Amino acid sequence: MFIEKLNRLKEKKLFRDLKDRESSQGHHIKLDGREYINFSSNDYLGLVKHSHIINEVKKTLDEYGFGAGASRLLYGGSILHRELEEKLASFKGTESALVFNSGYAANTGIIPAIADEDTILLSDEFNHASIIDGCRLSRAKTIIFRHKDLSHVEKLLKKERIKKKIIITDSIFSMDGDIALLKEMYSICIKYDTFLYIDDAHATGVIGNGKGSLTHFAINPEPWIIQMGTFSKALGSFGAFLAGSSDVVRWALNNARSFMYSTALPSCVIAASIAALEVIENDSVLIKRLWANREKLANGIRQTGYDIMGSETPIIPIKTGSVENTLQISKHLFENGIIAPAIRPPTVKDPRIRINVTTAHTDEDIERLIEALKKV
Ligand SMILES: *Cc1c(COP(=O)(O)O)cnc(C)c1O
Repeated sequence: MFIEKLNRLKEKKLFRDLKDRESSQGHHIKLDGREYINFSSNDYLGLVKHSHIINEVKKTLDEYGFGAGASRLLYGGSILHRELEEKLASFKGTESALVFNSGYAANTGIIPAIADEDTILLSDEFNHASIIDGCRLSRAKTIIFRHKDLSHVEKLLKKERIKKKIIITDSIFSMDGDIALLKEMYSICIKYDTFLYIDDAHATGVIGNGKGSLTHFAINPEPWIIQMGTFSKALGSFGAFLAGSSDVVRWALNNARSFMYSTALPSCVIAASIAALEVIENDSVLIKRLWANREKLANGIRQTGYDIMGSETPIIPIKTGSVENTLQISKHLFENGIIAPAIRPPTVKDPRIRINVTTAHTDEDIERLIEALKKV
């Protein structure tokens, strides 16, 4: 039953397989006994092995054990969950926050909770798969607008006067590395009395002094702005959050099914997220180095003649044209000891190599990638 389907995927060069590390995550990783320079990780600040985080995790593990044993609603959470939520709300400047088990769980839980059959969801065509699934799980009418095309958004909003409306957008687009036009969106939301839902997965720890996209654009967190973000990327931990008014948080707590019907995250995972927030609050050099590396690499790639597709962040896609070409470049880099993944449909429309540069990358890592790209 599946074999023909699998064969068809292979013919179209869209078959994916897993490769698992023999080392910790980082700028250098080991696969099949060989060391590679890794440009595929979202650990932007190189925090997965940060000593403060590891120490806090060990301490908490000794005190609380590992598993949480039940959902938050059934005493699965510890006082650390509450501490993280309070810390996060103050970090984001919102009234309240709620921890989710992953970014995927957050989007597929929050969006159906805040949208019902009398809601219109306007979603950017490049939004993350978890947003797409969240929209599908809701009963709302979902309209996809062209990527960052705000005249398209306005045209759609003009037609929809009666119902509750929510604009949903990634703040940093995960496969394109560009930034949403939040200032303009903010004005549109006010003009058309619309909610704004922001996915800060790649923005948290990266822009706005690590506080994310609203700080980056100097926008105040209003009660009609609902933010989610993750601890799993720049914060080097695991899990996600909702940040917003205390009303929306209490509503999600009572309605988001991925929150209600899933076991809480272990306390030591929560401790890692608390420690990671402390690290980025106290060490601004990490983010500065990330951006210095980003500028170095982006300039270097541009000088080799490649198109970086409007990247504005440490996510740097390289335009490759065909799936065939993408796989070939990725393979060439791999053979040169460099991991730079091929991203293909259905993840994106236009195939590309997606480079993620981090604080941990050295000048030599960056130069090796640029040299290898020159030889393709
Ligand atoms: C990674 C990502 C998610 C999912 O977060 P996880 O914690 O990995 O489940 C959600 N939204 C965006 C934009 C992402 O890039």
